[in-house]
Amino acid sequence: MIEHRNVFLSLFKKYIQNVLRVNFLKRNVTPISCALYVTRKCNFKCSYCIVRDNREYNLSLNETKRLLGLIREEIPSITITGGEPLLRRDIVEILREAERLRFYPISLFTNLSLIDRKLDVLNYINMLSTSLDSLNSKNDTIIGVKGATELIIRNIKKYSKLQKQKKFIMNINCVISKDNFDDVLDVARFAFANDCLLSIGIVVNNGIPQKELINNEKYIKVMDELIKLKKKRYPISNSLKYLKTIRDFKSFRCHPFLIPRILSNGLIGYPCNLQIQKTTNILDHESFKDVLAELENNHYFECSKSCYLGCYAMPSILIESPMVMIKEFMAFTAKIRSKT
Ligand code: SF4
Ligand code: SF4
Repeated sequence: MIEHRNVFLSLFKKYIQNVLRVNFLKRNVTPISCALYVTRKCNFKCSYCIVRDNREYNLSLNETKRLLGLIREEIPSITITGGEPLLRRDIVEILREAERLRFYPISLFTNLSLIDRKLDVLNYINMLSTSLDSLNSKNDTIIGVKGATELIIRNIKKYSKLQKQKKFIMNINCVISKDNFDDVLDVARFAFANDCLLSIGIVVNNGIPQKELINNEKYIKVMDELIKLKKKRYPISNSLKYLKTIRDFKSFRCHPFLIPRILSNGLIGYPCNLQIQKTTNILDHESFKDVLAELENNHYFECSKSCYLGCYAMPSILIESPMVMIKEFMAFTAKIRSKT
């Protein structure tokens, strides 16, 4: 517990350092967390997927362990994702290594289709995240697998009951698009009824968000309702500011390298995977400091696309508003404490 608190404090310290870098020193950010795609192979075919690649080479377990060790030198928290990470036979060993290296929190992002066969993963994580964009068959169409939604819903109900016992938080990520915005509040109610956290994202096709949604009154109503629920302290992990930003597609300054994506072959790109300016393979370096030095860019990065992807946009918006960030951070800490 004390160890967790220390890692959490170092995460907080990194966040504050980045607030100073961005707001006062006019420097680019350094990572506070990262998402590691342990594979890009997946058994789903989501229409908006920008990751899935069933041909890409995966690192061996030993290479993945070395990669984790290098990352941990500079980054205290991690999301293990894919593709579908549970397709890896050694996923339990990977998570065990992440825990041994004292990453905290450790999040696992999975489509939940294979969890029954890999129950041991629950012993090494602090957050279990999955996607659910609708409660009805529309979700099958979005993920491209008939009948999968029923299984996901069944598994959310089943595994959310283990949160206290196994000490993790369950998070349902709902990606809004013009195809499902009228289902989002049902997903929210389902998440709250099953004691899950809800995160909201916005669909992006080829790096472009569906900005035409702002002309749709129903979409605006749904977003207003989510904003109201957030204000009433329902467990929504997005900040109020992010929800307001995607309601109106307000412009924001992106700092995507706060949470870089690392591919299943060890490649890391700067500043984000949608607008790569520089890449390097982490495993070609002796330390993560060398990786950062190679990617370091002295000019201020300005995005020309504005994709609004939550995992990049949300921390970027928070870092520009330190007080909001502190409030959100305290709320998240309290939520983790209540389960662990
Ligand atoms: S589950 Fe994830 S990785 Fe798999 S197709 Fe869907 S979005 Fe892509
Ligand atoms: S908004 Fe951020 S994540 Fe999206 S394309 Fe621009 S820099 Fe990349």
